[in-house]
Amino acid sequence: MSHNDCIFCKIIAGDIPCFKVYETDNILCFLDIGPVNKGHALVIPKEHHENLWALPTELGKDILEACQKAGKAIVEATGADGLNVGMNNHEAAGQLVFHAHYHLIPRFKDDGHDHWQQQEYENMDEAAQLADKIKGLID
Ligand code: 5GP
Ligand code: ZN
Repeated sequence: MSHNDCIFCKIIAGDIPCFKVYETDNILCFLDIGPVNKGHALVIPKEHHENLWALPTELGKDILEACQKAGKAIVEATGADGLNVGMNNHEAAGQLVFHAHYHLIPRFKDDGHDHWQQQEYENMDEAAQLADKIKGLID
């Protein structure tokens, strides 16, 4: 399944070049062209799926393996102190490319990319009610 207007499908097809770091039958991992820190890479399934919820769960093992292997190598190669693994789903969450992908971002002490801003619950009831609501919506 490939989408003509999808930039990542074009990378997989070899129509757009990339700096590949890891590949299996199902997965490609390559450097992000606009890295948060140098060495920032993307893990993508070769099949076009739009986001987290469209991914077949069978791909989970391959994705995890790619994140572990490439993530370890990125940390070693860059001398990073840590690694963020992240995924943006839907525009509101910052998704720009609608072909599911996981970001592997090497992190350095004092690199200036602070933790995201946190809020507080009004009280523990509010948190408990929301947890119950979420629980009730899981099949
Ligand atoms: P998103 O915001 O959708 O989670 O992330 C998309 C990422 O893809 C961005 O970090 C962006 O820099 C990267 N990207 C977009 N176009 C290209 C491209 O043509 N080649 C590569 N290597 N990365 C790209
Ligand atoms: Zn695609």
